[in-house]
Amino acid sequence: TLTAKNIHLSFGSNHVLRGIDLHVPKGTTASVIGPSGSGKSTLLRVMNRLIEPDQGDIFLDDRSVLKDNPDELRRRIGMVFQQFNLFPHKTVVQNVSLALSKIRKMPKDQAHAKALEQLDLVGLKHKADARPGNLSGGQQQRVAIARALAMEPEVMFFDEATSALDPELVKGVLALMTDLSKGGMTMVVVTHEMGFSRNVSDTVTFMDGGVVVETGPPDQLFTEPKTDRLKGFLSDVL
Ligand code: ATP
Ligand code: MG
Repeated sequence: TLTAKNIHLSFGSNHVLRGIDLHVPKGTTASVIGPSGSGKSTLLRVMNRLIEPDQGDIFLDDRSVLKDNPDELRRRIGMVFQQFNLFPHKTVVQNVSLALSKIRKMPKDQAHAKALEQLDLVGLKHKADARPGNLSGGQQQRVAIARALAMEPEVMFFDEATSALDPELVKGVLALMTDLSKGGMTMVVVTHEMGFSRNVSDTVTFMDGGVVVETGPPDQLFTEPKTDRLKGFLSDVL
């Protein structure tokens, strides 16, 4: 279970997060939607402590993580970005095994075996020895997901994981994310994919201007939006 309480963050005079609360019970998927610049990516970055909040607290399983070592926290939270951030000169399997051997200190052959297993789960074992540049964008993103999963995170964050993909490649990545969600992974998914938000996530959080404007089950937010801000957003994106 991941909980953020009253998170505030400013970049200079720009008060980007203005008291954000988020509660993601273990095994559930929370989607976060909202217009560009509303603070969604910044919230994810604060929650895995790439940025320190000015105020507020973050709990993983009822224990504040702000006092822990940030590297330790990032081991417990897997993150997948819009840009896959794979190492271009390393093979696919090396991309997945690297953190296992470097950060987890797993022996090389064991890391390699685990990486292959993880690639198999995302349907890309046959690409193990290819370079990322020779894979489609969708395949590269599935490698990035395999790399994050190999670390056995307790929570997975996705930030617009399908936004950089050609339309025909989006489906495969969303299918993988859906499988993960159904398989009981705890996930926070920032997305423009309203289909995923509505049909897969357990809760939807709509952010605008650095605040949570509405949060609740998808049926409630998509069929009975309470605020004009959410109504306006939905009419723009649906
Ligand atoms: P998008 O949908 O376009 O990805 P977002 O909701 O993820 O938008 P953020 O990237 O969190 O929005 O940005 C929120 C605000 O914080 C914006 O005004 C942005 O300019 C500002 N911001 C984000 N990162 C930084 C940074 N490193 N330094 C200064 N300002 C930043
Ligand atoms: Mg963003």
